[in-house]
Amino acid sequence: MEWTKKLTAACDCTIKWSQVMTTAWSNQKSPMLASGSVPDISIAAFDPSDADKVPVFEDLNQHMDQLPNVAKFFKEQPNAKKLAQTPSGSVYVLPSSRGQQFYGSGQHMLINKTWLDKLGLQIPKTWDELENVLEAFKTQDPNGNGKADEIPMNIKKFDTTGFGPDWYNTFLLLNSLGIVTHFNSGPSQQGIYVKDGKVGNFMATDEFKTVVKYLHELMSKGLIPSDALTKDASKYNAELSSDGKTALTGVAFAYAATDFGDLSDEYVAMPAPAGPGMSADDVTWDGSVETTMFQNNKLAVRAGDEHMDAVLKIVNELYDPDVSVQQFYGSSPEYVTKKDDKTYELTQKVYDSTERVGLGGESAAGWIPNDVTVNNIDYLTSFRAADDVYAEQYKHFDLTKDTMPDYVRPSDTDSTTISNNDTQMFDYAMPVISRWIVSGGVDNEFDDFVSKLKTLGMDDTVALWQKWYDKYTK
Ligand code: MG
Repeated sequence: MEWTKKLTAACDCTIKWSQVMTTAWSNQKSPMLASGSVPDISIAAFDPSDADKVPVFEDLNQHMDQLPNVAKFFKEQPNAKKLAQTPSGSVYVLPSSRGQQFYGSGQHMLINKTWLDKLGLQIPKTWDELENVLEAFKTQDPNGNGKADEIPMNIKKFDTTGFGPDWYNTFLLLNSLGIVTHFNSGPSQQGIYVKDGKVGNFMATDEFKTVVKYLHELMSKGLIPSDALTKDASKYNAELSSDGKTALTGVAFAYAATDFGDLSDEYVAMPAPAGPGMSADDVTWDGSVETTMFQNNKLAVRAGDEHMDAVLKIVNELYDPDVSVQQFYGSSPEYVTKKDDKTYELTQKVYDSTERVGLGGESAAGWIPNDVTVNNIDYLTSFRAADDVYAEQYKHFDLTKDTMPDYVRPSDTDSTTISNNDTQMFDYAMPVISRWIVSGGVDNEFDDFVSKLKTLGMDDTVALWQKWYDKYTK
């Protein structure tokens, strides 16, 4: 490949490559770390927490003079650097960035625009308007088949461990009340949120109670299916795509319109509708906007490597923007056409080929600067169409002050305490929350619920997250 030749030229050396498939690697990784015999350079193999455990990797921060591309990357994307660095500033594993085109949450609120148009309705801007739209979807046969088969709003079954790791949790509606979720990753999935630098658990907030009450109201009126919280994910997904001809779903949380299969043309993303008493200026959207851009586990170098000069030349070349684009998308000129220094385009061969043409977005160790654009990426078109709708709501909060940044990493000991508390809390909480949505009762039981969460460690967990948040952000 053209880009691997560039690496060879940069180091003026011979590079021996070994490829290990994912399953084999999960068996090899721990023994390799324990033995200390790691490769000169490893790509997409280790993450910063591995480096925390075993001192076998080089602190690359001390070599920034020889890594000008990495230094430029860190200057442009300080949050990417923070993802990888230890509290004392060492960087044992380099992160990657796929660039500004990937900035955005992977979770969106989609609505059937064809139905809205048919009924002469607008995209709802408040919860009351949403409820009216859902009522119309339920009663006016917008799919036109003469049957009352429409699912006005579909929501996904809950995870047992909280509000993730499965995506598209209905508590994205907290953003309607100005609590910023971060559901693509991190402790937001266990209720942790941040507002003006203060950490809390949203399960203890009035906003949470308000969302629960709203969901119960919608379900009790038949606007959300009564079996939604027990339905298998496969059935939920099948309902999104329906039979490819007659849509069934009005509103759902999803990645993009493409989740609706052959019916994708009927759906658009909608901004979070404002909750009761909320000004539109205070409504937010899911803050996991850097999670899709950055990954923290891309490249490590063996400590004290005897070929360090050559190794550093290779590493620097990997983070060259041109080499990075080819790593992510495929070698040039077959798969990537360079239009100018800032613009690339994928060739048709990318879509015609069944071969693996690059390291792939999941594995590449590189940096695509924010001002570089790669055109003709099919899956980005649908992602951008969905996510750009939230541009305004993203401006209504501060990424550091109002979310738990991905780079905040509690110590091993504190992580264990947090994880144990979370297990106890969610074993108790998820069935209660589901029951409230299905049968009601949150008003009478909420105070007891919060007291019970406190006995299960909620306040301790919040305090630990506050401690690590302060350590990493101040
Ligand atoms: Mg119908």
